[in-house]
Amino acid sequence: MRIEVHRNTRRRNRLGMTFEASGVLRIDAPPGTGRAEIEATVRAHERWISYRLTRAEHEEGYRSPGLVAGAAHRYLGRLYNLEVRDAVTPASVTLDGEVLRVSLGGGGTNALMELLRSWYRERADAVFAERLEVLVGRLEWLAEVPPWRQRYMTSQWGSCSAAGRLSLNTHLVKAPLVLVDYVLLHELCHLQHLHHGAAFYALMDAELPDWKKRRRQLGGYTAMLRDRF
Ligand SMILES: [Zn+2]
Repeated sequence: MRIEVHRNTRRRNRLGMTFEASGVLRIDAPPGTGRAEIEATVRAHERWISYRLTRAEHEEGYRSPGLVAGAAHRYLGRLYNLEVRDAVTPASVTLDGEVLRVSLGGGGTNALMELLRSWYRERADAVFAERLEVLVGRLEWLAEVPPWRQRYMTSQWGSCSAAGRLSLNTHLVKAPLVLVDYVLLHELCHLQHLHHGAAFYALMDAELPDWKKRRRQLGGYTAMLRDRF
């Protein structure tokens, strides 16, 4: 890992650390900060640094799947190679072994993209509905599945409105089921605590003891939010 130290007269007493897009860890330190102090600070933030580093590696390795034959598309954490059959009706999308087979009635790239988007929407509807049913069944403090919807979002996996309505990101259906469950449970816990305070995390600890591990894994999928379908 590359570390760059910048002496910055605007910083009076604290060290600042930021990860740059290039993967370099930039440290801004007040003038006169000794090497030992900088090293101690880096060591004290080891866990945060390694978390950000893993995330950066994942993101660097991720390429949004294209639409050429064989392109690897994700569904529930597994990869499927795209196979397009042009001018075949009715238009359909099916999983067959390790193949994501699309029958395209015509219409070219846009039609293919739209077909994939609606297939992911359908899958997300089915998967989220089923998992919400299962998870809500395990929660003593929740009697029924709250109103929810799914849509393609670019900056978050899910959210919960003040009125108690969940929004879930369609892209999430590409991630492994354990991560789908993590996001769903996170949003369900907001029905009890509409904030990220101590009480909220205590509830997460009680309902999903390994949620931190899952959150870390989900961090590796952040780049997926930029997919076009
Ligand atoms: Zn939240």
